Amino acid sequence: MKVVVVGGGIAGLAAAHRLEGILPVSQSEIVLLEQESGLGGKIQTERVDGYVIEAAPDSFLSRKERGVGLCEELGLADELVGRRPEHERSFVRRGHVLYPLPTGLTGMIPTNFDALAGSELLSAEGKERLAAEVDVPPAPAGGDESIASFVSRRLGPEAYERLVEPLMTGIYGGDGEQLSLRATFPALRTFELEYGSVVRGLLAQPSDRGTWPPPFASLRGGMGELVAALVRDLRRTELRTSSGVSTVRPSPDGGYLLETTSGEMIAADAVVLAIPAFAVAELVVGFDDELATAHGEIPYASSAVVTLAFRSDDVTHPLDGYGYVVPRSEGSDVLACTWTSRKWAERAPDDAILIRVYLGRFGGRDVTEERDRDLLALGRLELELLGIDAGPQLTRIHRWPRGMPQYVLGHPERLRRIELALAEHPGLAVAGAAYRGVGIPDCIRSGEDAAETVARSLAASLG
Ligand SMILES: Cc1cc2nc3c(=O)[nH]c(=O)nc-3n(C[C@H](O)[C@H](O)[C@H](O)COP(=O)(O)OP(=O)(O)OC[C@H]3O[C@@H](n4cnc5c(N)ncnc54)[C@H](O)[C@@H]3O)c2cc1C
Repeated sequence: MKVVVVGGGIAGLAAAHRLEGILPVSQSEIVLLEQESGLGGKIQTERVDGYVIEAAPDSFLSRKERGVGLCEELGLADELVGRRPEHERSFVRRGHVLYPLPTGLTGMIPTNFDALAGSELLSAEGKERLAAEVDVPPAPAGGDESIASFVSRRLGPEAYERLVEPLMTGIYGGDGEQLSLRATFPALRTFELEYGSVVRGLLAQPSDRGTWPPPFASLRGGMGELVAALVRDLRRTELRTSSGVSTVRPSPDGGYLLETTSGEMIAADAVVLAIPAFAVAELVVGFDDELATAHGEIPYASSAVVTLAFRSDDVTHPLDGYGYVVPRSEGSDVLACTWTSRKWAERAPDDAILIRVYLGRFGGRDVTEERDRDLLALGRLELELLGIDAGPQLTRIHRWPRGMPQYVLGHPERLRRIELALAEHPGLAVAGAAYRGVGIPDCIRSGEDAAETVARSLAASLG
């Protein structure tokens, strides 16, 4: 039995890892094909001169079980770290002013109205409207709704624009008018239906404060440690980098035939495609056009991360917090600015400050097409708002063209079409950020689920 995993991001690595655990050692062969020269996909950490620089993700939600769970299985439990508690606060930038996020947020939503009362982020009317959420009747059962429509309907348009939209954009880089509530935050609709109120629903949930692991977890040496540990633990998977796959077809003898970009044909009994949706569409077009079309309909946002380091002496701003988010209504390319060395310990030398500026909005211009010096200029312009105009000691630019799938309205139906199409192809499964969660734990779970799916189908074919 030969299983080929296409894609060496976290979903593909997790799929291979799970396959090693469930396929019989003596009768199975696992090959992972990755088009780039390195593994990890979006998870890339550089360690240089005392800095820990993340190219994309810097942490993950620990309440989603497979992030912490996999770290523990890989012996990384002692490497898990939380954000620095002494700087625990974040801001929303409006114009040149940073407004502290009200304390007592549960996810993106204020549930502590006393704390909200002191916040300058919302007007008095905005706060009143938000407090009236408990009295807003639930919408009748119906189709999908955008995040913008749902949150404005329940909490008021101001709470959406000034609070929820910028926080949500920090996760998806997306446009709340287009993002599907059912595909992104289904629990909010459940709370509306079950508790008659999102706020009441959130308050009824067990609190994760004060527990270990912390709600946002990272690894001491950066997220790349997870990839390195996974790769170390893959004992019998043949890892082939610089091996892009260009087509997947059913083989006349059963199973599948994959063609690599160098023209090599590889036969497999089962295949896990752990690559972005647009890449799946390219691979399967001509073999299953409906599968290709449904994948091709999943849009992606492009973004860039500009990382800058400064001597502490050159920064007069107190940077007392984790950073800030920028609402879409500001008309800026900047989504967020993270004060990395304030958020995480051991990310910069003691006499230095590390900052990340996250740029690029879905529906806006494609920042990944900008030249390095223009992206750097955008980053530095943003930091001038903090009074930082000194020359940086170090800079890094990471571009993520079509880097973040967007679960726009209709996403749940697209997933159903994909499932229906896949049901016709036993031994073929998909995994990764395009489907049921973009976060690292979601991607791990989807890789593991895909591994289980193809293992079941192999077992069934053997009778
Ligand atoms: C800027 C940014 C910040 C983020 N921050 C966070 C965060 O803080 N926390 C969090 O949980 N998530 C975050 N995410 C999301 C998360 O990092 C990703 O959703 C996740 O890493 C995706 O994993 P994946 O395995 O699905 O895909 P990828 O990491 O994209 O891996 C897919 C792999 O497939 C390879 N590939 C593609 N086509 C082919 C082919 N034809 N043949 C062979 N190989 C192919 C690619 O080269 C790539 O290595 C962030 C994402 C971005 C872009």
